[in-house]
Amino acid sequence: MNGRTDARDLDDATLRSRAIAAARGDGAFDILIRGGMLIDMATGEQRAADIGLVGPLIASVHAPGTRQDATETIDANGLFLSPGLIDTHMHVESSMITPAAYAAATLPRGVTTLVWDPHELGNVHGVAGVDWAIAATRPLAQRHVLLAPSCVPSAPGLELAGADFPGGTIAALLARPEIGGIAEVMDMRAVIEDRPRMSAILAAGRASGKPIHGHARSLAGGDLQAFVTSGISSDHEIVSGDDLLQKLRAGLTIELRGSHDHLLPECVVALNALPQFPQTLTLCTDDVFPDDLHAAGGLDDVVRRLVRYGLKPEHALQAATLNAARRIGRDDLGLLAPGRRADITLFRDLADFRAAIVLASGRIVARDGALTDTAPEIDATPLRASMHLAALGKDDFRIACDGPAATVALIAKPRFTEWAEAEASVEDGFIVPPEGTTLIAVAHRHGLADSRPRVGFLSGWGHWRGALATTVSHDSHNLTVFGGNAHDMAVAANAVIAAGGGMAVAAEGKLLALLELPLSGLVSDAPLEEVARAFTAVRAAADSIVDWQPPYLVFKAVFGATLACNAGPHQTDRGIADGTTGTLLETPILRVRTAS
Ligand code: FE
Ligand code: FE
Ligand code: FE
Repeated sequence: MNGRTDARDLDDATLRSRAIAAARGDGAFDILIRGGMLIDMATGEQRAADIGLVGPLIASVHAPGTRQDATETIDANGLFLSPGLIDTHMHVESSMITPAAYAAATLPRGVTTLVWDPHELGNVHGVAGVDWAIAATRPLAQRHVLLAPSCVPSAPGLELAGADFPGGTIAALLARPEIGGIAEVMDMRAVIEDRPRMSAILAAGRASGKPIHGHARSLAGGDLQAFVTSGISSDHEIVSGDDLLQKLRAGLTIELRGSHDHLLPECVVALNALPQFPQTLTLCTDDVFPDDLHAAGGLDDVVRRLVRYGLKPEHALQAATLNAARRIGRDDLGLLAPGRRADITLFRDLADFRAAIVLASGRIVARDGALTDTAPEIDATPLRASMHLAALGKDDFRIACDGPAATVALIAKPRFTEWAEAEASVEDGFIVPPEGTTLIAVAHRHGLADSRPRVGFLSGWGHWRGALATTVSHDSHNLTVFGGNAHDMAVAANAVIAAGGGMAVAAEGKLLALLELPLSGLVSDAPLEEVARAFTAVRAAADSIVDWQPPYLVFKAVFGATLACNAGPHQTDRGIADGTTGTLLETPILRVRTAS
């Protein structure tokens, strides 16, 4: 179901009359949940209580055993009653499965509501991608609050996605009831410098009265104040425990994300040292790979890990329920109390958080880890055929140079990138990649510009004994290829092109692994287990050709290496882009040495 369109169903006067009568004792409940231990998100107490439901409503929360009259009774003995979990920032596409498959994986784990920024679909298909997301989530028992993607593309002028959403497009999206706000505003320099395109997007957000979600990676001082003053009210890009506190103090709602696990222990320490648990702390998954989703879950896993790292279960749940509901403006969610919506997860314990039963809007939607009903998959034809480029050759991944040597620009360090330079020799008219560098090539695949790969050099990426190609490449999702040699890069790239999008790893001229993602080049319509298996094979193949160096040089780094809105140089389909300075180099050749 869509997040803002179902909010009015509780207003029905007949429903309320029936619920009031049942609460008074003059009518039976539809469902009575008996014998459970309620986690009270308002007071932090655990208390034994029974819950009576009428339709989608909680009609009564009362002392155990005081009421028996109900059409159906759920025995909750030994179970903990929590509001359904709310994931406040995520991208379904990151799990490479359809929304129906995502719901099948996470609703049985107790995640009843998601705030989905469909910016990956938006970057590939434009508004048609958002339309598809709305249509695909409408029949689901899981509630999806969809947002208007603010960064299509993430760095305008420095890269080309499959579409462009200026302020007018954002305003039109916000006017729709299914759209719950503006999604993570990532072009931070554009906000801070108050550039016209971004200013129009933010004005549309403020005028809509819906929240503007942020992405405030590494902002501090005056930059942070300027970013927040624009009206942006959240951030999920926490980089340390201290950063978490600075962002909370700036009044931002935090979507603390599970995708950067190594940061969570210090965030827990920072939170536990505060005099009160912040009401503005919520939890999110952001990006979860299919194998991780299959093995560990979605937001339930973020709750589980935070508790393992020392956060009180009541606090983790408060962040994932009441705080989240308040953030998204939903008074009907996040509390188990009369008059609220009956989105209820019955957990077996407060350590593993295994959900025994999940209710959404007063209906049992999952039991023992499985949905009680399967939702129909909607037609995904609009997402197919998204690869608008021809097969590539080895020379497409080499850089021609007409002198004997050259000075070339390098993109140094994964994740927090910096500019560097190196001397390179030339052989047969092509630059020889400098010692210690890795090639990166980005080919425009959306049919809006030439698709000749733009090639650059990475340093600090270790020694690559092969190549990896991917159309999952945030956020423009052009075909991105990493490699130690041009030949393997062509093999991997061509496998992905032939598959209609996806990921491939090649070495010594042979394909080692392929994950086909024929929907948008981002998503598969296969079941999660199958996608997880193919993804695991790609991950293992990548592990065999690269020596990762955590925490920054990790497998995940390949998918964010082209995110040009982040500070520092990034390779895009237009060249080497620096969002901070606005620099765009079409080739890494800075100076050609003339023959002497
Ligand atoms: Fe982000
Ligand atoms: Fe995100
Ligand atoms: Fe993205």
